[in-house]
Amino acid sequence: MTDQADKSLHDVTVIGAGIVGLCCARTLQRRGCTVTVIDRVDPGMGTSYGNAGVFSTSAVMPEGKPGVWKKVPGWLLDPLGPLTIRPRYLPRLTPWLLRFIANSTPRRVEEISRALSSITFPGLEHYRALLDDVPDDQSPIRRQGCLYLSPNPADVAAAKADNETRRRRGVALEMLGPDEIRQLLPAIGPEMAGGALATESGHAVSPLALSQLLAAWIEADGGRFIRANVTGFAIGADGPTHVHTDHGNAEIEDLVIAAGAFSKPLAKILGNDLPLDTERGYHMMLPQPNVEVRVPMLISSLGFGVTPMSDGLRLAGTVEFGGVEALPNYARAEALLTHAKRLFPDLNDSGKEPWMGHRPSFPDSLPVISRSSRFNRVFYAFGHGHLGLSLGAVTGRIMADLLQDRPAEIDPTPFRADRF
Ligand SMILES: Cc1cc2nc3c(=O)[nH]c(=O)nc-3n(C[C@H](O)[C@H](O)[C@H](O)COP(=O)(O)OP(=O)(O)OC[C@H]3O[C@@H](n4cnc5c(N)ncnc54)[C@H](O)[C@@H]3O)c2cc1C
Repeated sequence: MTDQADKSLHDVTVIGAGIVGLCCARTLQRRGCTVTVIDRVDPGMGTSYGNAGVFSTSAVMPEGKPGVWKKVPGWLLDPLGPLTIRPRYLPRLTPWLLRFIANSTPRRVEEISRALSSITFPGLEHYRALLDDVPDDQSPIRRQGCLYLSPNPADVAAAKADNETRRRRGVALEMLGPDEIRQLLPAIGPEMAGGALATESGHAVSPLALSQLLAAWIEADGGRFIRANVTGFAIGADGPTHVHTDHGNAEIEDLVIAAGAFSKPLAKILGNDLPLDTERGYHMMLPQPNVEVRVPMLISSLGFGVTPMSDGLRLAGTVEFGGVEALPNYARAEALLTHAKRLFPDLNDSGKEPWMGHRPSFPDSLPVISRSSRFNRVFYAFGHGHLGLSLGAVTGRIMADLLQDRPAEIDPTPFRADRF
């Protein structure tokens, strides 16, 4: 123990230096714990590197909606659609898919929506608290809102129900017509019927810079980073005593698994077989886009977003089920570009860079932020799906409360590992 007198000052090892692991480590460190972060790549270089950068304080709906099962045949047939399943992966995905469909009933959607809003809504406030010692001009976070854009009248009608749910959950929305949208997106073409601006949302002008900032503060305050691939654990009667890596073994006290889409095998070794899969997503980075986009925008009907970042314009999104091992299909990133060029006819794609990452996803669209059901000193923080950036800081807060046995500010029950 770091401090025999204070039992809340733990010695914590975090596996995973993505946004979730870094936020957990930094929150625990600020509360006096000693932290070690292990990752096989540099901080922030996993899925947290390439997301759309949106802090979705307005994301209150799960991915599965009533009637979703009717769409499955189409997902199998269109490899470039907004959501696709690689046919060869279907047998492995089927148990996950059945749970996903079971979580898409109106009753479950309502329950999940309530749980989601308890963490998405205060997401940005928790970043503000976590970064309160960072000067404003160093923060990569902007709070200019996020536009849900509907390219055609049918999308406006389809978005109505989602917007009503958002409002019911307390999300501030401003409905915008074409003229108001043109003020935010001067280069938008004729394919645009309306939109809703979630005024309290924000975005990161560089998700990587945010991770690097957290890593730098953790290191400056004495945290340790180990660059290694975790392969297993030595497990004693009370839980894991050592972590095994390709660079040797390290002694551990408290352990947080925050390895994103790669957490499943680690949790399984520790006795929790959780239904985690991955929704692979793509981005296309455009360093000289030649169009002005003043706020990030999400186009639900096409399954992607467009975000202004410090190094260009990022088109990011789509869902592909194909597991963690299959090679990327960058035609999916090209498809994003095709859609974006219809929205912004003058878009310049010279120097474009495609990327693919692995969203860590549970079939009920909720993360696991939980003590292990097997060992008292093992904790899980993974499965944040489409919302890991938005939920990093709030996850760190919930994790620190759990680990230090403090009264919970946010009810952690919906995020328990033993819900499955
Ligand atoms: C295209 C796309 C767009 C997205 N847009 C948004 C958005 O706008 N807003 C939002 O909130 N979210 C968004 N997301 C989701 C978000 O990016 C993820 O939920 C989030 O990055 C998950 O963070 P993480 O820390 O759990 O995982 P990661 O960032 O993947 O970090 C996990 C880390 O664990 C390490 N690791 C894994 N296994 C091991 C091991 N055995 N040994 C050592 N290290 C290991 C990995 O190297 C990695 O660095 C998007 C995702 C995608 C793909």
